[in-house]
Amino acid sequence: MTESTSYQPKQVYELEGMLVAPRLGATSTFEAYVAARATFIEINDDARWNPWVHEDRASEERSATAVLEQWRRAEPAFRQMTDQEVKEMLDESGRRSDAEFAADIARQKRDRERYDPEREQARLSLLEQESILSRQREEMVELGAGRYPAMSDERRTAKIAEIEHAINDRETQIATLAAIVADREDVVDEYGCLPKDRRKAGLLHYQLNRERKVRELRARIPKLKTGATESKDRTERSKLRSELQTAEASLETLLAVPPLSEDDMCSECARPASHHGWISPPYDGPCPAWPGWAERLRQAREILFATAELTKPKKEPDSQKPQPIAVLPSGLPIAEVIATLSELQNEHPDAIVKRGRANKWEIWPADA
Ligand SMILES: [Zn+2]
Repeated sequence: MTESTSYQPKQVYELEGMLVAPRLGATSTFEAYVAARATFIEINDDARWNPWVHEDRASEERSATAVLEQWRRAEPAFRQMTDQEVKEMLDESGRRSDAEFAADIARQKRDRERYDPEREQARLSLLEQESILSRQREEMVELGAGRYPAMSDERRTAKIAEIEHAINDRETQIATLAAIVADREDVVDEYGCLPKDRRKAGLLHYQLNRERKVRELRARIPKLKTGATESKDRTERSKLRSELQTAEASLETLLAVPPLSEDDMCSECARPASHHGWISPPYDGPCPAWPGWAERLRQAREILFATAELTKPKKEPDSQKPQPIAVLPSGLPIAEVIATLSELQNEHPDAIVKRGRANKWEIWPADA
């Protein structure tokens, strides 16, 4: 903090390279100004990804604004932009984004000409194979570090050798695919869109969806809380308590997602790329666009429909009737169960799994 003697107001303070001074009649201290400014910036930064922060911290934001309004910039040459200048700046940035948009459309139109379905498929396979490879490498590390302690040494050694072999095969396959794909960011789809174009759309979709879900949950949780304590019916209370737990867990998961950029997104679906993986949790599941996984999903769907235990076709996602989305028959192979659940998760990300009457989920290791 330095005081200037060359400028009119008695107190001029320096903060992060700018000079500020209290306006006439200001009652707040410089320390209060610094704190208010920090709060204001923090709320607005946070609100870009979590817009409900404006509501949660409304009174803090109001107090901070009231303090900020008592202060002004104190550089002798400083002047606020006029309304006209602000308008010109916004017009200019609008013109720039219109031009960028037009350039993107022109590029995509041009790029449709060079669409190569084989290369597109190779790219998707490559992404899938790389993801499987990284899972297999993790598995090697886990086995080497003594995971599954009940496993005999003999079995462990054999398993490690098996995975090592699979890794070698996969690396060869990846090299072949990589040669077909070349620059993977340059592979266009049938509409001429590049992966980066789809990531951009995916991020917007994901962001809006996350905001919508968070707002819904924030509105629902207090109602569930009230019902869970005040309902006269014990069964109803217990049902609401369980719904409340699920809603709170979903909200926590959504809030924990840090601000994402376009580069963080999967190019094929509206999910962060880091959410794709083969073990759930922590991953949501593989990408439904990966060819091998897409085929397994297709088969799982067939099995699911064939068992005729599907109680409700996937229509009317907003129906609030207490009907399960799907009932999984018992006795399905684990791969099908995972595939089916993963597919249902993609279609109904908020769905919960409940134990059916007199039915248990029991998952056993393959060699038990
Ligand atoms: Zn994806």
